Amino acid sequence: MERRRLLISYAHPDDESFGLGAAVPKWIDDGVEVYLICATNGDVGTAPEELRGKFASMAELRLSELACARKYLKFEEVFMLGYRDSGMPGSETARHPDSLAYLWQHQPERVTADVMAVMRRVKPQVVVTFNRYGGYGHPDHIAIQRATLRAFECLQADGAGKGYRPQKLYYASFPKLTTRLQILSARLRGQDPRRMGRNKDIDIIKILEHVEPVHARIAIAKYFDVWEKASRCHASQGGGRITRTSRLLRRLLYSKQGFTRVYPQPARDRVDEDDLFAGLRL
Ligand SMILES: [Zn+2]
Repeated sequence: MERRRLLISYAHPDDESFGLGAAVPKWIDDGVEVYLICATNGDVGTAPEELRGKFASMAELRLSELACARKYLKFEEVFMLGYRDSGMPGSETARHPDSLAYLWQHQPERVTADVMAVMRRVKPQVVVTFNRYGGYGHPDHIAIQRATLRAFECLQADGAGKGYRPQKLYYASFPKLTTRLQILSARLRGQDPRRMGRNKDIDIIKILEHVEPVHARIAIAKYFDVWEKASRCHASQGGGRITRTSRLLRRLLYSKQGFTRVYPQPARDRVDEDDLFAGLRL
């Protein structure tokens, strides 16, 4: 039987840990080979001086954090595409000609070709990326989602994959209930849910509006400690701030990670899988 291979196509060093830090060890325990695309070096994030001081650049700090996370999330291989982090929409950095979001707008075929090259090399049966809103609207997340979808579709088309075709494509989903609770809790604290996060650029109402139907739910509760350890590695991005309340909420609300199945397209919107490899011929 062919080995099961899964490719996660994400944008920044930390997306893998914050988003799928419990799903990755679950897949690995199940015997799946897990690969990661990290499209940028995370050049633009801000960091407290005590962390930043030890490194020549923000990218160097972010990459060392990813190396730390890999001790817990045992990827077979990580593919760095080396694009520049774009920062949030409208920011100066998003107009930098080497930034992922800029390049996606001006040379989409280049980004698509990079993702396709990784897919051809790894030959994953299953590919996971962000939803169409890039999770929370980050332009790099949206760019890598578009490029991954296009690469997947090109390889699915006859002949383009030189014999290899990826079989399933999923978007990792944001849970609706948790998003609703975040809006409620922001309002109770007198905060504007449309202007959240360290840089006031996260709009939780929009996140809720962009939640897509869930077709697969993976049980991840067993892996919360790994998730926490991997997330802590990304201290410069707030990964170290895990409170007792957030831990409790995680237990209550995140015992399963949901995914939207894009290919093969579901006949109707309902949860019909508890394994992303369900129904595959290997
Ligand atoms: Zn990100």
